[in-house]
Amino acid sequence: MNHSGVWILAEQKGGKIRTVSFELLNRGRGLADKLGVKLSAVLMADKIAETEINELVFHGADQVYIVDNPVFANFLAEPYQKTLSWLVEKHRPEIIIAAATTSGRTVMPMVATNKIFAGLTADCTELAIDPENRDLLQTRPAIGGNILATIKTPEARPQMSTVRPKSMNPSPRDASRKGEIIRENPTETCFSSRIKFEKFVPDDSQDMPIEDSDVIVAGGRGLKKGENFAMIRHLAELLGGGVGASRDAVDQGWIEYPHQIGLSGKTVSPRIYIACGVSGAIQHLAGMQTSENIVAINKDPDAQIFRVADFGVAGDLFEFVPVLLKKIEQRKKR
Ligand SMILES: Cc1cc2nc3c(=O)[nH]c(=O)nc-3n(C[C@H](O)[C@H](O)[C@H](O)COP(=O)(O)OP(=O)(O)OC[C@H]3O[C@@H](n4cnc5c(N)ncnc54)[C@H](O)[C@@H]3O)c2cc1C
Repeated sequence: MNHSGVWILAEQKGGKIRTVSFELLNRGRGLADKLGVKLSAVLMADKIAETEINELVFHGADQVYIVDNPVFANFLAEPYQKTLSWLVEKHRPEIIIAAATTSGRTVMPMVATNKIFAGLTADCTELAIDPENRDLLQTRPAIGGNILATIKTPEARPQMSTVRPKSMNPSPRDASRKGEIIRENPTETCFSSRIKFEKFVPDDSQDMPIEDSDVIVAGGRGLKKGENFAMIRHLAELLGGGVGASRDAVDQGWIEYPHQIGLSGKTVSPRIYIACGVSGAIQHLAGMQTSENIVAINKDPDAQIFRVADFGVAGDLFEFVPVLLKKIEQRKKR
């Protein structure tokens, strides 16, 4: 089939590379090294600065294919799909990974089905290479999230996957890395779109999305009732963070859905994640296990959450959290 190389679909907004691109480069680097091939980033943008493009190299790309055109000033599915398909047909990579963001989730299936007839595994949590035949092993939750299934695409090329943002850390930056910047000029038809961009309306319904918080304090069913979330909110406020919750806490009506962390909620990766009365079910861990420091407070010393915790308090949260609040308040007064 003569396909070679690992590609990531980089994302930019307003001419700035989005962090999710560096997370993809981290994943892609591991796969490319295993296969002994180059790692390339594809970037579609409008008059993006050279310094921004270089960031992709500094974070692990050996090559960057850049297509610069005014049509990429805002996300429009058709030009993205046609341009990516054009590049794929020209260079024939063996693997393409994109983020499971609105744009990645829109473009990748269009490319896979409309143009190149490849398979696509959406929302993967893990990617690896089968040492026997170099196939991409694409792992994702299946059957309602109760099992993790590993999917292979042995026949079609390229193998295509989307991965959840924040399910991996961004690759470290190394300003001494060298790479090749390749400017591509696809046919003019690639830039046409039947959809026109009108305007961008921001969602102002939340103060700060918890995905952007450095600290998250999350409550689970161990809180016993909704009013006890006041304690979690207080702790989050003192630490300048956001409030998270398990699905069971949301299902009880104790807190709204935008706070839910996990497989069917948000994926977060803060510097500190404090889980209070959360058991650590696999579906919850899927949304927070890449956090830098995990603190778990649970009265059951065998709770699953302690398996991923960096610091654990095996005790009653109703005894521990009030003491913690008092200590932080005293410290702040000093
Ligand atoms: C398809 C699917 C998708 C799902 N998606 C999600 C998701 O996105 N997010 C999610 O969270 N779950 C999700 N779930 C549900 C998940 O399986 C668990 O049911 C859920 O995470 C459990 O929530 P919990 O930890 O709050 O409750 P429990 O499992 O009931 O745990 C409560 C914990 O609190 C502890 N506790 C009790 N009292 C105290 C106390 N006084 N002090 C300290 N600790 C105490 C207990 O020891 C226990 O470990 C999903 C399930 C499925 C099937």
